[in-house]
Amino acid sequence: LIFLGIESSCDDTAAAIVTGEGRILSSVVSSQTDLHEDFGGVVPEIAARAHAERLDRAVEQALTEAGTKLRELSGVAVTAGPGLIGGVMAGVMCAKGIAAGAGLPLVGVNHLAGHALTPRLTDGVDFPYLMLLVSGGHCQFLRVDGAQDFTRLGGTIDDAPGEAFDKLAKLLALPQPGGPSVEAEAALGDPDRFDLPRPLLDRPGCDMSFSGLKTAALRLRDRLIAEQGGLHQRDRRDLCAAFQTAMAEILAEKARRALAEARVPLLAVAGGVAANGAIRAALEAVATEARARFLAPPLRLCTDNGAMIAWAGIERFRLGHSDGMDLAARPRWPLDRHAAPMLGGGK
Ligand code: ATP
Ligand code: FE
Repeated sequence: LIFLGIESSCDDTAAAIVTGEGRILSSVVSSQTDLHEDFGGVVPEIAARAHAERLDRAVEQALTEAGTKLRELSGVAVTAGPGLIGGVMAGVMCAKGIAAGAGLPLVGVNHLAGHALTPRLTDGVDFPYLMLLVSGGHCQFLRVDGAQDFTRLGGTIDDAPGEAFDKLAKLLALPQPGGPSVEAEAALGDPDRFDLPRPLLDRPGCDMSFSGLKTAALRLRDRLIAEQGGLHQRDRRDLCAAFQTAMAEILAEKARRALAEARVPLLAVAGGVAANGAIRAALEAVATEARARFLAPPLRLCTDNGAMIAWAGIERFRLGHSDGMDLAARPRWPLDRHAAPMLGGGK
């Protein structure tokens, strides 16, 4: 099998060619960070337009780099949700055009399934395993029992960790994206000087909350400014260190519970926040303690990309699934097989 995978659900336009053996022949990612920089977040209309403009080129480049002709493909996989609807629609239309034009099967993929199945693409791991998806837009524990069999064990009830890192960086006037800036400052700071809350840690279950952490950091910053007339470099570093430590502790403790509940031999992570060294180390320690393996795919496959979509498409296709030209873009699309059907959602 050889699949083309198309991803356009957020601010990356991506296309990739992947084989049934999990070889990534090409993976093109065109980031829109520069387009949204001045707005302090992704602007849906700008994203949709940029995707529409860039998709054809990304697909062409992916085919060229892989040395693959359209007629050699076995199918076209595309993110059909969840995400920003304009971007998802642009991707779905592009995929339909290619599939119809070349007479290829079309496979709609859930973006979260793409992330969740990545450990099988990179390391060929077997089911079942536990996946912590932790990015700028998501934070959830999934028990993965099959390519279409996901159980959500818990997740954030408010902000996603990446979003919280980005907001903290903004508060402290550090460069965006916030995660890497905060991590660099934290490395030079004292994590014990400030005491930040660990919301929901005292409650059972695997749900998480991060907005209180952000509010507490804001109050601390304002207090320091009121007392000292400004922020010293040391304050910034100590605040980042305290924030990162709190974040790592929350994720690690909830991962401990999720592992105990899931009883699986592997903990895998995906999402941009998985790049954080302190968080990674804390999760790895928890996995080791539970006698589970820990797996963090390479960062370029942890963040949004087309290869994970091609692979998830291959996995769905192997189970005998494909979609018709009526494949719809879905802004919301819970992965969990136990989730209540969404109003207005497809099947
Ligand atoms: P999604 O994948 O959920 O649709 P996204 O595009 O925002 O959303 P990613 O590209 O996976 O997500 O990750 C980006 C996020 O990861 C940003 O919020 C960024 O601050 C965060 N991040 C990146 N590197 C680090 C790091 N070293 N430490 C903490 N956070 C990080
Ligand atoms: Fe993503």
